[in-house]
Amino acid sequence: MSKNIFSGLEDLGFDDIDEIDLYHTKKEQIKKEEILHLTDEEKQRNLLYNREVTCPVCDNVFKTKAVKTSAARILRKDSDSFIIFDVINPYFYDVWICNKCGYAAMKRDFNKIRNSETELVKEKIKPKWHPKTYPDVYNVNIAIERFKLSLLNYYVIDAKASKKAMNCLKIAWMYRLLKDSENETTFLKQALEGFNSAYFNEGFPLYNMDKFTSMYIIGELNRRLGNNDESLKWFSQIITAPGAPSKLKDKSRDQRDLIKEAEDLEKSADKSNADETPIKEEKPKRGFFSKFFS
Ligand SMILES: [Zn+2]
Repeated sequence: MSKNIFSGLEDLGFDDIDEIDLYHTKKEQIKKEEILHLTDEEKQRNLLYNREVTCPVCDNVFKTKAVKTSAARILRKDSDSFIIFDVINPYFYDVWICNKCGYAAMKRDFNKIRNSETELVKEKIKPKWHPKTYPDVYNVNIAIERFKLSLLNYYVIDAKASKKAMNCLKIAWMYRLLKDSENETTFLKQALEGFNSAYFNEGFPLYNMDKFTSMYIIGELNRRLGNNDESLKWFSQIITAPGAPSKLKDKSRDQRDLIKEAEDLEKSADKSNADETPIKEEKPKRGFFSKFFS
């Protein structure tokens, strides 16, 4: 704003209020421009804060990175619940690690460890643990390492199958970000095995999923792994269940249709192959040496 909108008030003593930014738009504009010029890493650093945590295994007090709640902007959601975020990926900061003893868990579980389980961490993780200093901003490879350390801790304390399965599912998603389908499949399989076992042996919710959401995830993991018949069983159970939420029924119908469409395509491809008249066998071309023998 170049013109002084308060001109005329000089006689009242206000003669030095040039360049008034009445709605602070200029300030906001400058802030926006500053953000535009930041590197991705600087942008991410701005969205993080340090949170003080006490390790339930060794009482070490340490700071862990956490994502400001207002920071996570969702871009889209995959059919198996994987959320793709803009700017910063909260999954990268999901695992908390005590650098003193090597205890690690997803943040939701970090403090929920029993005394008998802390003994197992002290016995099996702590003696082997090499402390590591991570950079301020994490990337997908760091996230995979941290999720794997968390999974190892869950294994050592013999955590519930649902916890291990959720941990595996998140590792699969990290590999999806890397477009590493081989490792993604390995961890989707592990996740499915865990959720299957949890569905029949644990009470609901499984991790944070109610019964129908668990059924949907099991159906969807089966679909992603190509177990179509098994997948259709779970989806149709949801579709016909009187108590299932209509949103989940719709999602199940969509995924069921995907399978059917893919199967129809395959069938029609097989049929058209079968319909084609076999190509007449061409006479073998005369080889280089044949002219010597004709
Ligand atoms: Zn510790």
